[in-house]
Formats: sequence, C-alpha cells, structure tokens
Amino acid sequence: MATKIYMDHAATTPVRKEVLEAMLPYFTEYYGNASGIYGIAKESKKAMEKAREQVAAAINAQPSEIYFTAGGSESDNMALRGVAEALKDKGNHIITTKIEHHAILHTCEYLEKHGFRVTYLDVDADGKVRLEDLEAAICPETILISVMFANNEIGTIEPIAEIGKLAHEKGIYLHTDAVQAMGHVPIDVEEMHIDLLSISGHKLGAPKGIGAIYIRKGVRITPLIFGGAQEKKMRAGTENIPGIVGLGKAVELAAAELPETRATLEKMRDRLIHGILEAIPYSKLNGHPTDRLPGNCNISFEFIEGESMLLLLDALGVAASSGSACTSGSLDPSHVLLAIGLPHEKAHGSLRLTLDTDNTEEEIDFILEKLPQIVARLREMSPLYEEVSKQAK
Ligand SMILES: *Cc1c(COP(=O)(O)O)cnc(C)c1O
Repeated sequence: MATKIYMDHAATTPVRKEVLEAMLPYFTEYYGNASGIYGIAKESKKAMEKAREQVAAAINAQPSEIYFTAGGSESDNMALRGVAEALKDKGNHIITTKIEHHAILHTCEYLEKHGFRVTYLDVDADGKVRLEDLEAAICPETILISVMFANNEIGTIEPIAEIGKLAHEKGIYLHTDAVQAMGHVPIDVEEMHIDLLSISGHKLGAPKGIGAIYIRKGVRITPLIFGGAQEKKMRAGTENIPGIVGLGKAVELAAAELPETRATLEKMRDRLIHGILEAIPYSKLNGHPTDRLPGNCNISFEFIEGESMLLLLDALGVAASSGSACTSGSLDPSHVLLAIGLPHEKAHGSLRLTLDTDNTEEEIDFILEKLPQIVARLREMSPLYEEVSKQAK
C-alpha cells in the first residue's frame, strides 16, 4: 500500500520544493569545488557562506561559529568526542541523560571505554531533566553537559536555558542535540548559554546527509575528520554545496515561518491527542502535556503491540512509528519510554505520530476515525484485555 498519510516527520521529512529549487543549480551549473580560486568555485563558496549566515541567524550565532557536517549523528559525535579529547587534561566526566538519541548514547558508551566517566541523568515521568539532579551530578572533573533540546520520541522540551545557566556558572560546556527542535521551537544560543548545538537537514525539509554544528567561539574542541583545510580545518572533506545550500534555505524558511508553523501544528496535535485519549480507553499520553514539540503525539495503549498497530495503519496508507524509528525492527522497548517509567508491556504498545505542515485536518479526522477501530480489533485478540473488560462490567 502506498503511503497516503505521512505522520513520521520525526524520522525524516520530504525535501521542500523551495529547498530543492535552491539546490538544483549547484549540481550542474555551479558545480565548482569551493576551495578553488576561479569563478565557478567562488560561486560555490559564496553560496556556502550565505547558508552559514542563514543557519547562524536562526539561532542568534555568528556565521563563523557554524560548521557543516554530514548530519545530526556526525554533529553529535563531533561535539562529544571533540570536547572530550580537547579537555581530557582538565577532566574526564561527562553528564548526559537517559533519553538521548543513540548518536549521543553510543558515543558516550565509546568514551566510557576510553577513560571517561559518564553520568546518565534520569528524567521525570514527563521526560524532563531535573535541575537538582544535574547540579548534584556536577563534579570538579565535569567537562561537558549534553542534554537534548527536545526528545525525538516523546517530544518533551528540556529546560535548556536553565541548564545552560547552571553549566556556565560552573564553567562547564553545554552541548544540545537540537535536531528535533530546530525549526519548531525558538532557539537562541546566547540567551540559552549553549556552547555546542547539533542540527540535521532531513528533519526540517532539507536532504538527508547534511547537517551542522554550532561551536561557540573559543570552545576547545578537536576535529573528528582529518584531511583538507575545509571548515577551518575542523571538518575535512570537499563541501556538499547543494546540501549546504538546501540546509541554509530550509533553516531560513523554518525560522521565518516558526510562529505560524508552531500554532498550526499545536492545534492539530492537540486535537489528535485529545481525540485519541477520549475515544480509546486505557490510553495514555507520553511526554510533557504542554512543553512538547508542536507536532509530536506519542500515546501508549494497553493490551496491544505497537508493531501490530503500525502494520494495520500501513494497510490504510498511514506511515507512523512506535517508539524510535531506529529501534523498530528490534523488539527491545524504547529506552526513552522505559526512562519515563513505562513498564515493558506499555512501552511496547506505544504509537508515535509526528506532524508537519504538509499534514491536514482531514488527515487528523481519518486517524481519529480509524485508530479506535484498529485498537479495538487488536484488543479483541488479547486475552488480558478480555479479562479486564469483564471485570469492568
Ligand atoms: C534524527 C536525529 C539524529 C540523527 O540525525 P541524522 O542526520 O539522521 O544523523 C540525532 N538526534 C536526534 C534527536 C534525531 O532526531
């Protein structure tokens, strides 16, 4: 069945038409290597510097503080490994959270094998980091705090400004994975005391395989990739000019449209969430009720498997996800849902629907009509549900 309704924007987004149009000339017409000194190379260089300005402007940074990478995972790796390596004589302790993306968690596990100590902070039932836990975890050896801006599974937005203030009072760098937040919630690296920030193109209407990292001027960090002198020797490799142009355009559009996008998505999201919770018994919202990404709906349904729900939704042409896109296919429950205290069986019965402005109110109606039927059908096959509904009568 072809997908008719796409509600998995946290996994990836289609490239926006305006973005593709901005990119196209840089494949065939202006194909120069930005390192050259001739005309066509200068066109590439000019386009790249414009994109750097577009990305910087969206987060209140300087263009010189933006470095292009191949995506969110690379930016996350670079932040953690680069700061760890550069500051290893200062300290060996890193603080992060239990709900980070695997690009952070697996990098931390790697660093633990190489002499670093990592504290993985718990979160509360809504998925928020508690500042008192963070403060208690800080020690003289702490060199870096990495807390995601907003969670990709449950949508919870973390108190980054407060975390940044605390980090700076203690003289510790703050990195934030803002891959999901970028373009959906306002970000200001100055106001929020952010030192390093990761973004990814394909989560906001640019292509896959392009991203960026903001590194505050003066932050000590070593490169991840060595080679040519590109990106002030911080990230070798001939620049992906079409991708960079696309990222700049997507970020610029998202920043300009942010208030409107946010209002539209929040309205659709809340109708979806409340409609589902009202229509389906034994369902529960995961993540913070209000401090959440405008397009994120994550709900657990007791007595059913998320994967079965996904298959029945797919049969209706609906693309959705249960927990993390990266873990579907494996039967491990999502580490994020476990961290907010869900037991395994409830974590298994969770559904994530992530909206963007290409979704419509008609699509929300369709989900609100079909999902209760799907859940009821699956529960009919559950002996546990039969038991519970008998008792309720
Ligand atoms: C998608 C995602 C990443 C990884 O980005 P890629 O560009 O796919 O490497 C990292 N962190 C979060 C929160 C994400 O949602």
